[in-house]
Amino acid sequence: MTQRLPRPAAGPPWEAPPEAEPVLAPEPVIRLTSVVKTYGTGEAAVHALRGVSLDVAQRDYVAIMGASGSGKSTMMNIIGCLDVPSEGEFLIDGIDTSRLDEQQLAMVRNRKIGFVFQAFNLIPRMTALANVELPLSYAGLRAAERRLRAEAALRLVGLAERMNAQPKQLSGGQQQRVAVARALVTAPSLILADEPTGNLDTKASADLMGVFDRLNAAGRTIVLITHEADVAAHAKRAISVQDGHIVTDRRVTAADAYPPLLRQPASQP
Ligand code: ADP
Ligand code: MG
Repeated sequence: MTQRLPRPAAGPPWEAPPEAEPVLAPEPVIRLTSVVKTYGTGEAAVHALRGVSLDVAQRDYVAIMGASGSGKSTMMNIIGCLDVPSEGEFLIDGIDTSRLDEQQLAMVRNRKIGFVFQAFNLIPRMTALANVELPLSYAGLRAAERRLRAEAALRLVGLAERMNAQPKQLSGGQQQRVAVARALVTAPSLILADEPTGNLDTKASADLMGVFDRLNAAGRTIVLITHEADVAAHAKRAISVQDGHIVTDRRVTAADAYPPLLRQPASQP
């Protein structure tokens, strides 16, 4: 038993020392517990994930690395509620996803998550603005409101001048920034990106990572898959996956710190 000091006799309220409030650790955005994913059965079974446990805190910025076929996209698809584990548990914002039906999963996806893929997946013959507005039409917003929000998202990724261009009139880097604006426009707390710089040159990759850095500094949690060390260097935490297992998990800077490669605003004198 721990010995405790006797409490001082209560004085007048204005002298009373403040009681220590119990501090609740904020819920992780993502919690995977012993997640197994097997495609197919019997002889043909592919063991894509063989027991993955992972917590991702709010505001964290995580890079997932690993050879082709190691299970990265499978993990991302589960985190993104696009697929479900064969075994184990997956919680998003504390919600046990195994208790949700298809429609509820779709709602979680639309409200909480923004996706960015390697192939930009923009709709051709639609302007950048119309592409970015699309997720808002699904959310049932009015036209004027959709337009305002889509414009704001495009400004945020540095495309204020190209809002009316169609994908084919934009460079790869610009198209991917439109895709990021589309991922952002519903104000998701979590952004998932599967090899977002895979089709970009060095300069466009650096620009895109600058956008992710700023989004993270503004409070969004980011999980991205990459093959490139200089892309992973933007993250606060680097995880590597091998043969369906997490094999290393390296913390570079605290989840609530400034992203390591983002230039900090000059401190006030
Ligand atoms: P990574 O993204 O690291 O390249 P994946 O998660 O895409 O790896 O794939 C992991 C393993 O699971 C691979 O062997 C892949 O062939 C297999 N796999 C992925 N998706 C499916 C699927 N829908 N059906 C069957 N096998 C799959
Ligand atoms: Mg993949």
